[in-house]
Amino acid sequence: MTRIAVGGFHHETNSFVAPLTDYAYFMSHRDRPPLVRGAEVTRWLSETSFALSGFLDAVRPGVEIVPLLWASGGAGGTVTADAFERIAGELVGRLSEAVPVDGVYLDLHGAMVSEPFEDGEGELLRRVRATVGPRVPIAVSLDYHANVTPEMVEHADSIVAYRTYPHVDRAETGAFAAQALALLLERGRPVGRALRKLPFLIPLNDQCTLVEPSRSVVARSVVAEGAIVNLSYLAGFPPSDLYWCGPAVVAHAFDQESADRAADALAREIALREAEFAVPMVSPEEGVREAMALARSASRPVGARGRAGQSGLRRDGGHHGRPRLRASCSGAKPEGLSLEARSGGGALHRQAAFFELAALAPQEEGSRGWHTRLMRHEQRSWP
Ligand SMILES: [Zn+2]
Repeated sequence: MTRIAVGGFHHETNSFVAPLTDYAYFMSHRDRPPLVRGAEVTRWLSETSFALSGFLDAVRPGVEIVPLLWASGGAGGTVTADAFERIAGELVGRLSEAVPVDGVYLDLHGAMVSEPFEDGEGELLRRVRATVGPRVPIAVSLDYHANVTPEMVEHADSIVAYRTYPHVDRAETGAFAAQALALLLERGRPVGRALRKLPFLIPLNDQCTLVEPSRSVVARSVVAEGAIVNLSYLAGFPPSDLYWCGPAVVAHAFDQESADRAADALAREIALREAEFAVPMVSPEEGVREAMALARSASRPVGARGRAGQSGLRRDGGHHGRPRLRASCSGAKPEGLSLEARSGGGALHRQAAFFELAALAPQEEGSRGWHTRLMRHEQRSWP
């Protein structure tokens, strides 16, 4: 029977936030499961919107899943040496007890900076590779905001990423990882791999996949087609201050020429569209007026939320002296919606924030709880 070890270790690190992210934070149960291990992993992560859940749903019958450990620290300051070593150490320790395995799948973020290793995922994958040896395929799914490094591309045999921002396709991404891993189990580790870093950073507010140019860039993603295992685009996470920060195109293929050709073509297209990533901003007041107008013409119940400086969130949910944008929804119907924009604490200038207006789709058969379909994605700046 085919044995696949699965695990996850997520953190989206903002290196400019002073408080560190410690082990206790990974252990806490917030809007995501706490650190879970062994059989708890599948119990907590099944039937959720996380990538691991989509992976578990998509694996072929007859595969034995060996759950290792899954932990998420959300977004915040640099991961402490203690947290990194305890979590990576336990994940790899459990893997070393589980070997031999036929394959490994890891549900990762890709923008983790830790005190001892600025490329958290690269170091984790190096240890996982050292544990399973040179023959076992390792498939990885990453967040759209990953800062991909050469070590990650070298040690993983497939890298797929969310194709949406805001992220509404995490589980689907896990299913793509399962498809890629099935191909690798059949054909072996791919010899071709290519990483192309774009020579610019893309601000978070200019990465939305509902609009151009990101929309057509993510549409070029490929999984298991011909010689290609994956062709993936990752927009990068600028607040992670590491050498390899920035957008990337990654290709894994069964020959080097196919990997190079696919990666070069997509990277060239993105580079040519650099100027298009800069999206004009409007004031919060103007944004609320637009959102209200959208709500009036909406055909479905409308919900709204605002968030400012998400990646700078403190552990207590507050912001680091940033202006705030608050939106409240008073009613499930468009006509009952009221929105309020308020800036507070704010001596900072031109601080961008998201403003999202979402139509909540009715519960569909087999859907994973309530589902957000964004009608519009707006950007704001404080004068
Ligand atoms: Zn993300």
